Amino acid sequence: MTKETKIPITPNEIHGLAVHAAGAQLVPYRYEPGELKTNEVEVKITHCGVCHSDIHLIDNDWGISHYPFIPGHEIVGTVSAVGSQVRDLTVGQRVGIGWQADSCGICEWCRQGDEHLCASAQPTCVGRNGGYADSIRVNAHFAIPVPDALESENVAPLLCAGITVYSPLHNLGVRPSSRVGIIGIGGLGHLGLQFARAFGAEVTAFSTSTDKEEEARRLGADHFVNTRDNGTLKKLAGSFDLLLSTVGADQDWQSIVNGLRPKGTLCIVGVPPSPISIHAFPLIGGQKSIAGSPTGSPRDLYQMLDVAARHGVKAITERFPMANANEALVRVKKNQVRYRAVLTN
Ligand code: NAP
Ligand code: ZN
Repeated sequence: MTKETKIPITPNEIHGLAVHAAGAQLVPYRYEPGELKTNEVEVKITHCGVCHSDIHLIDNDWGISHYPFIPGHEIVGTVSAVGSQVRDLTVGQRVGIGWQADSCGICEWCRQGDEHLCASAQPTCVGRNGGYADSIRVNAHFAIPVPDALESENVAPLLCAGITVYSPLHNLGVRPSSRVGIIGIGGLGHLGLQFARAFGAEVTAFSTSTDKEEEARRLGADHFVNTRDNGTLKKLAGSFDLLLSTVGADQDWQSIVNGLRPKGTLCIVGVPPSPISIHAFPLIGGQKSIAGSPTGSPRDLYQMLDVAARHGVKAITERFPMANANEALVRVKKNQVRYRAVLTN
């Protein structure tokens, strides 16, 4: 009988930046991802956008954060390894990864191509380590090939911010006759203006930052409203088919609902801290709706990237070396970034 020989395992550490407690600074952190699963790809990260959700997660605003963890879910990079069952991606291919890294694959939602609604869906940086790192592993189904026409830096923010505003415009049937208001012109909102224009709508930007007016108009806004000016909001009662709120702060929801035309929808994608309180009568009388919308499925991501490539939708970015991610987070918190910080390796 031959003596058992152990094959040495090559260390395959992933190096990133993690927080170790709610609200803490990012510090260098490394982890061993183990053996590559048969359905996974490993992606060498070149770019990762800084979504405000990363800040909510760092601060544990939603009570779902576990530490240490590496934030980041607007990832672009190249495939560096493929699991044995992956047939549609090859080493060297450029891919994008958004909010979701895995799902069960067999529930009714996964089977219908709505994997983002799967009860077992795994967010890329909740309970897993995200994209403020040199590499990441995900189920290959959630690594989406990026059209050649799109630059990595400008496309990374589309993987979360872009799909989050594209999905409700698409799902709620926005068309050339639609009057759409985008509330909050940050990472999500500046892409919302561009997509709403691509859908043919008449577009109004609602912003607390009057210095954003010129850019908002260039990006697709036909009108610009200063949301700090209550009088203007009141004058706009009954004006919009869709109001898309991308703001992560409490707002005057009643005035916003009053801004809807009959059959209009207020769609909430930003995550305010407090419950939303609305009188029922304006909803009932005007047959109005309040909706929420998450990111989107891999199928939706394919479609959104294709639309972006053909209609010239791209993020306006501020670039930071990955090592300076803390600086980027501070600028996002102060609403200073125009309009998306992107970390690069
Ligand atoms: P962001 O880049 O910081 O932009 C948010 C914008 O909201 C700001 O630029 C600002 O626009 C406006 N704003 C900020 N504070 C405000 C206040 N106190 N009152 C009114 N307006 C204010 O953030 P983001 O990355 O776009 O994310 C926005 C929200 O969407 C976050 O809550 C994030 O967690 C959420 N989100 C949700 C999903 C989803 O699946 N539903 C996906 C991604 C992100 P102006 O300067 O124009 O006023
Ligand atoms: Zn996000």
